[in-house]
Amino acid sequence: MSTALVIGSGPAAAGASLALSRADDVKITVLDIGLGLEDELSGQLERLASARPDEWDPSLVTALSQPPVHLTEGGLPQKRLYGSDYPFRNIGQLDGITAKDANSSLVSAAYGGFSTVWGSQLMPFSPTAFSEWPISAASFRPHYEAILREIPFAAEEDDLAADFPLMVESKPLPPLSQRTERVLEAYSRHRSRLNRRGVRVGKARLAFHPDECVRCGLCMTGCPYGLIYSAAQTFDALDRANRITRLSGFLATELSEDANRATVWAKDLSTGETQRFDADRIFVACGAVGTTRLVANSLGLFNITIPMLESQQFVVPLASLRATEDPRLDKDFTLNQFNMTVTANSDPVDMSQLHFYTFNAAFSDALPRRLRGRTESQVLRRLTVALGYLPSWRSPRLSLRVRSPQGGAHLPPLHVSHGPAPSGRGQMLRTVLRKLVGSGPLLDLYPLLPGVRLAAPGKSYHWGGSFPHKHAPNLLASDRLGRVGGWRRTHLVDASVFPSIPAMTFTLTIMANAHRVASESLHLPLHEL
Ligand SMILES: Cc1cc2nc3c(=O)[nH]c(=O)nc-3n(C[C@H](O)[C@H](O)[C@H](O)COP(=O)(O)OP(=O)(O)OC[C@H]3O[C@@H](n4cnc5c(N)ncnc54)[C@H](O)[C@@H]3O)c2cc1C
Ligand code: SF4
Repeated sequence: MSTALVIGSGPAAAGASLALSRADDVKITVLDIGLGLEDELSGQLERLASARPDEWDPSLVTALSQPPVHLTEGGLPQKRLYGSDYPFRNIGQLDGITAKDANSSLVSAAYGGFSTVWGSQLMPFSPTAFSEWPISAASFRPHYEAILREIPFAAEEDDLAADFPLMVESKPLPPLSQRTERVLEAYSRHRSRLNRRGVRVGKARLAFHPDECVRCGLCMTGCPYGLIYSAAQTFDALDRANRITRLSGFLATELSEDANRATVWAKDLSTGETQRFDADRIFVACGAVGTTRLVANSLGLFNITIPMLESQQFVVPLASLRATEDPRLDKDFTLNQFNMTVTANSDPVDMSQLHFYTFNAAFSDALPRRLRGRTESQVLRRLTVALGYLPSWRSPRLSLRVRSPQGGAHLPPLHVSHGPAPSGRGQMLRTVLRKLVGSGPLLDLYPLLPGVRLAAPGKSYHWGGSFPHKHAPNLLASDRLGRVGGWRRTHLVDASVFPSIPAMTFTLTIMANAHRVASESLHLPLHEL
């Protein structure tokens, strides 16, 4: 029997743990911070979950579906889950992290990590995205499939499958909103003209259970029935199957290894004491920023700036000439409804992916005051909002300045800032917007250009690449098994090891890569490490 210790309980940790759980002779321990929903809200949630929507107490619905909260750094407001901020709350993991003109809520303490609050969009990278990686698209395929078989997957074969294959059997989405149906119909009528312009449209692909969805519309504030996947669900299942031991309430602060074992030092958050845990192999999945800080502390990477890649997010409001019914009266799910890919030139990786939302309760809150009240219905009947992404090579880089640990702190101070936008960013954004404008009359979906906003650096949550996989690993580059700085038994498995971040849905590839690293690591006999 060998031992493996996984740090974190987000999607990367889930991907690694699923791979390790296939081997009967590996004893798996999962160590995480493990913050959960407050007891009072959990009790209220149980009451909603055990009733039909027509039986729900409206005061409970209000308590558990709080709107997102505007923060100073700009970009989309911060989501709430079942009325709580726990996925973003600092219980020590953010101490010492500061930011200038950038998001600083970069490490989650939640059981499930940021997947507790994500939009559940689930697509692979296109095979061409791996052309610059030292790992081929073909070697990713079985790991994508393994993950997709383990999590709920609502998706349909459509035009996007040419670049983004479905790979496994999926379930159809619930009925889509009126606006989405109209856009998809218009797209099928004008497909060849749009494709010639580099525009493709398809239905959303989501990690949720579509057949149990009652279309209550609360998706963006937390599904009362738990139908939207979170990595916590994978750990609950592995726990029930006695395949893992979970140790919660620990903040990992340092890693080390010798010829016979790997070690993690962790602060017990209830006592403040430091504890030591040994294992044959360690898989580090603290999220790219959390992992970078932990590795820097462990390898003595102080007073240096570690660059991090980000796929920058932008927001585009769009209007349609032909109104639908008032979406507040419709019974729809409110996750992403349809997707668009826009290629900027002849390079298929130089693509922007956009996710379209046709309504959720936050739309009303975001309207300027003059558009609320009597005109609100007219606006909502025509409004769609898209979240788009630019690839990392067209986005500003984040700079993570790590200083020496001070005053007994367990982790070093980390200051996040960002570099200038690369020269091609403006041009790519303009090209994407021009193509959206050109598609407007064909899809009855016109971008409202004065409303376009670039999100603050760090806000996309599509960041990583501080220790990219390289053929020749070194202190700031990992081998294909996520090992840096001469480590043999310690593997980084989150997006910290991504060599690039294309503007494509992100987290499925994190999970597949973590699954790949953990699977391949088991092929190396311990005595050869
Ligand atoms: C609002 C929002 C919407 C999103 N929507 C989507 C989407 O629709 N599709 C998509 O692909 N991606 C989406 N993302 C991004 C997605 O959530 C992340 O890519 C994903 O969660 C990253 O997984 P991870 O496991 O690497 O890190 P995380 O999810 O951050 O998990 C890290 C884990 O490590 C633990 N941890 C951290 N530090 C330590 C430590 N020192 N010791 C012990 N444990 C530690 C954390 O508590 C957590 O359990 C979204 C993100 C947000 C915030
Ligand atoms: S509409 Fe959203 S919140 Fe309601 S049941 Fe379906 S997935 Fe859950």
